[in-house]
Amino acid sequence: MLVTYLREMTVSASPQLLSWAFQLAYLRVSGLGPVLERCVECGRELSGGLYSAAQGGLLCGDCARGIEGGLELSPGAVRSLEAIGRFEVQHLGRLRLSEQIRGQIEALLRSHIRYHLDLSLKSESFLRKLQGERTSSARTEADGGGPDDQ
Ligand SMILES: [Zn+2]
Repeated sequence: MLVTYLREMTVSASPQLLSWAFQLAYLRVSGLGPVLERCVECGRELSGGLYSAAQGGLLCGDCARGIEGGLELSPGAVRSLEAIGRFEVQHLGRLRLSEQIRGQIEALLRSHIRYHLDLSLKSESFLRKLQGERTSSARTEADGGGPDDQ
């Protein structure tokens, strides 16, 4: 599977979609795919809802009550994820996704993988590092210390 995706990556115009498709396929094969078509608590069919990493999928409005954090997934983002999982890798470039939907997919996969595989992607830490450098050069630090725990 990895070889197929890597080979396609060298010719694809949409490496980001390929990367997401691979992450989704890997999660599914491992039995860790996010549940997106129904509420993980009550089983009600859903189109979009609140994603909770700890629950491993979407929650309906009733079950989402009292859940801290979470990520709102639009029906469009869920449909796009379904399409990414269904398309053949060679055809992924045909998918057209809005920036908003791309943002939701990226956030969902990052959160899901971090929670369920206990793994931070290198690209994520790289982006964090860049952001951190930008932030720390923009403000004066009073005193050093460990990470804030609030
Ligand atoms: Zn529910």
